[in-house]
Amino acid sequence: QVETIARKNSVPAIPGVRNIIAVSSGKGGVGKSTTAVNLALALHQEGAKVGLLDADIYGPSIPVLLGKAGAHPEIIDEKHMRPVKAHSIVCNSIGFLVPETEAAVWRGPMASKALSQILYDTRWGELDYLVVDLPPGTGDIQLTIAQQVPTTAAIVITTPQDLALIDARKGISMFEKVNIPVLGVIENMSYHICSKCGHKEKIFGEGGGIKVAEQYGIELLGQIPLHIQIREKSDDGTPIVAAEPTGKLAGTYKRIARKI
Ligand code: ADP
Repeated sequence: QVETIARKNSVPAIPGVRNIIAVSSGKGGVGKSTTAVNLALALHQEGAKVGLLDADIYGPSIPVLLGKAGAHPEIIDEKHMRPVKAHSIVCNSIGFLVPETEAAVWRGPMASKALSQILYDTRWGELDYLVVDLPPGTGDIQLTIAQQVPTTAAIVITTPQDLALIDARKGISMFEKVNIPVLGVIENMSYHICSKCGHKEKIFGEGGGIKVAEQYGIELLGQIPLHIQIREKSDDGTPIVAAEPTGKLAGTYKRIARKI
């Protein structure tokens, strides 16, 4: 499947990588990276070999989320590198290679060239899934990046808030433009569960994800609660799915992973 799509976008496939899943969001702060990391770990727990590519050139957060800030991919010959191993998956990020202040001022062509290099110069090995954490937004850079990666399918992350949903719609349209199938929408921060009493509260409203999914005829892949443990475990460098693989929250991510 990768090969067909790669040809369509005229970008070469990545050797050994069977499926590339792009995780995107219309805007920042909706939990795209947090969801990408936990989904990658959930896919592994479901038995797949998984890699994670941090394509969020302007704000790479995967090294911190996986507890690998300051790590460097091993250089194996003049051109290639081995991805960094973290919690049973492998990953690579611009954050391992370039100081953040430097990448943050790159223009579009420079950013997409850097991404292309990380993607093709990493010896990913045999992977069932390479999860790609795209930069937020739907501008030209995102479009170029989406096109440069020989993507199998995309997932759009949103919160239930109206503003985020408008942006999610733009995200879906962007992938349609470049003929990348959208697997579905994940609604993050769908409701808050109080860690003391278990009370459920819909802080950002209700029903948004399902509306967008219905409008575009795609699936609402799942709803993830706004939960303090998701934030805390990410900040600690051991995302919730790795920290408590048999817990309820991990179960939510694994149910979504089974649909991918
Ligand atoms: P994005 O990649 O969309 O910019 P992040 O993944 O960096 O967003 O998440 C933004 C902030 O929200 C982070 O502090 C993260 O820990 C927190 N966060 C994301 N999803 C959840 C969630 N479901 N529950 C609690 N906190 C969350």
